[in-house]
Amino acid sequence: MKTAFLFNQDCTLHDMGAHHPESPRRLQAIRERLNQTGLLQELDEVTPQEADRNCLLAVHPDSYIKNLEELDPAEGMIMVDPDTALMNCSMRAAYLAAGAAVEATDMVMSGQADTAFCAVRPPGHHAERNRTMGFCFFNNIAVAARRALDFHALERVAIIDFDVHQGNGTIDIFLDDPRVLVCSSFEYPLYPFSHHSVDRPNIINTPLEAYSKGSSFKRAVERDWFHQLQDHKPQLILVSAGFDAHKDDPLAHLEFEEKDYRWITRMLKEVADAYGHGRIVSMLEGGYNLEALASSAAAHIEVLAGKD
Ligand SMILES: [Zn+2]
Repeated sequence: MKTAFLFNQDCTLHDMGAHHPESPRRLQAIRERLNQTGLLQELDEVTPQEADRNCLLAVHPDSYIKNLEELDPAEGMIMVDPDTALMNCSMRAAYLAAGAAVEATDMVMSGQADTAFCAVRPPGHHAERNRTMGFCFFNNIAVAARRALDFHALERVAIIDFDVHQGNGTIDIFLDDPRVLVCSSFEYPLYPFSHHSVDRPNIINTPLEAYSKGSSFKRAVERDWFHQLQDHKPQLILVSAGFDAHKDDPLAHLEFEEKDYRWITRMLKEVADAYGHGRIVSMLEGGYNLEALASSAAAHIEVLAGKD
């Protein structure tokens, strides 16, 4: 079983300041942990390149992309939303993160890899079609989904988002596209406070109360996602892998542990094996306690790689 690990050092150039939780050190923490445990050496490490603009245009309007590019400052930072700053390296990192989505999808679809994890930032799942939000510029997982549908001619994919925040951007983008089943679990009430009351058969919102533990998550997933996944029969599983539902994360109040990330990953592998030749592309979203992020991501990747 081959698992690709996509990482480009230039994703760490985007730096919103020493006190910003979405820090370049997040990627370093994950990669260092994989290196220390020896797992990195068992993965196929790939350096992704920038996404082709056409791949972004499948998800965002041309005017939105142009607007971000035109804002791109020569020096200093521009706040593009109350939580999100853009500096001159940000677009390079954002294009690389979206490029990883394309490359990982191509690798998994061509059989070069069975599964893939993209250690990228900026994250993507809050970016709506036409709106930068919550540390996100381009919706990376949506770029992966459209690549699978448009270029690889798949008919059905599923996006599983277990970040502690709802994947409002992903929901916004696929609201009227029944080829894409979006299952999002999240603490509620909590940011982003949008797209919560969406009523579409392909959008499954799974809110969890503050202080919910992994056992509640498991029950909710079994209740809300199992039969939907069985009915949809996704030919590819895409994961918005945020690890900020961990009990030590500073930005939210859920109480997941590493074993819960192992459990959900195993469950997704079973679904992928049943309907999608085992194909999974997972992309980093949130996770802001570096220790918890590193150990949770390592647990997830270990299961993705079949080492667990
Ligand atoms: Zn999050």
